[in-house]
Amino acid sequence: MTRGAKVTVAGAGALGLSCALALADAGCAVTLCDPDPEASASAVAAGMIAPVFEAVLDAAAAPAFDLLLAARDQWPGLEARAGVRLDRSGAMAVGDAAWLAGVSAGLVRLGLHGIDLPRRTATELAPGLSTAFDHATLVREDWRLEPRPALAALRAAAESAGVQTRREAIQDVGDADWLVVATGAAQGLAPELAELTPIKGQIVRYAELRGAGVSVRAEGCYAVPAADGLAIGATMEPGLADTAPDLEALAPMLAAGARLFPSLEDASFGLSAGVRAASPDGLPMAGFSAAPKVILATGARRNGWLLAPLMAQVVAACVTGRDAGPYVARLDPRRFEKGSG
Ligand SMILES: Cc1cc2nc3c(=O)[nH]c(=O)nc-3n(C[C@H](O)[C@H](O)[C@H](O)COP(=O)(O)OP(=O)(O)OC[C@H]3O[C@@H](n4cnc5c(N)ncnc54)[C@H](O)[C@@H]3O)c2cc1C
Repeated sequence: MTRGAKVTVAGAGALGLSCALALADAGCAVTLCDPDPEASASAVAAGMIAPVFEAVLDAAAAPAFDLLLAARDQWPGLEARAGVRLDRSGAMAVGDAAWLAGVSAGLVRLGLHGIDLPRRTATELAPGLSTAFDHATLVREDWRLEPRPALAALRAAAESAGVQTRREAIQDVGDADWLVVATGAAQGLAPELAELTPIKGQIVRYAELRGAGVSVRAEGCYAVPAADGLAIGATMEPGLADTAPDLEALAPMLAAGARLFPSLEDASFGLSAGVRAASPDGLPMAGFSAAPKVILATGARRNGWLLAPLMAQVVAACVTGRDAGPYVARLDPRRFEKGSG
């Protein structure tokens, strides 16, 4: 084990902070650098820790259910370590009968059963929900956190574990023993980053409808009762790496949100956007780069918060030489090299 290794972590989003904390806890001397952490995708995310509905509703996530669930199971440890607060009240799918039947079939494929709720219970769990829906399906396995307080808690825990933080962009490994690249959709610090596709995501928040109830998953959007307002998200705009508002791209999602919560129809909202990073197989990259002394923690697509503790564990194991667990091969950044696999 390389105890006391000098490690630079580039990027202070969910992944960089989680890696920095795990590395400091493993005895490394860690410097965490980010020129603009407020602009991270992690800060604008909805904060769902949602292995079940992600695997049911997103075709790219379906084959990774075991991995997503294992990542979720790492969260209580990080909650205890860093004081990140998890909301475990669950998530509810709401839609017409045909769509809900598809959701139920997806749950059965995962070996799960949702709890079928009548309209009255659904509207109690999600105040303001439209009464046009007769049924809903609740799962307790999906959780949630508040991204900005979670980032602050991770940063505070990392700093009190000895992590030095700097507001600067990293260009190369420098004099570190290892460089951990957790730069989200940014390019440049490792050859494998060229495999990543940016996916712009726009999300809106209705400040007047403040957090109560469970998260809601529906056709065309999700609704998260966040502390700073009901969040309706999120667009998936592959190939776009900008964060400019685009009301045309947003319109179907806003309409879906207003179908769920009719009072949103004319309500004013705040808009934010972030850029996710997706690898060709939809799984993240966590492990050694082909570049010397470089370790990657990126490509988490739309599940970076969910995956953060598991990826941090793999990254820390790369540095310390400890067992990195059963997912190393599936997360290996070099799996896209020509001739591999
Ligand atoms: C609208 C939206 C909603 C989402 N909702 C969820 C959700 O509910 N649940 C979930 O799990 N995931 C969600 N995601 C996905 C999640 O936000 C991302 O997967 C996650 O934030 C990725 O974290 P990261 O640390 O890899 O990257 P980021 O959070 O993007 O952080 C990368 C950081 O690297 C910094 N950086 C770039 N280049 C350099 C450099 N050279 N040197 C130093 N620093 C650098 C940047 O400034 C940035 O702060 C959502 C994403 C979006 C856009």
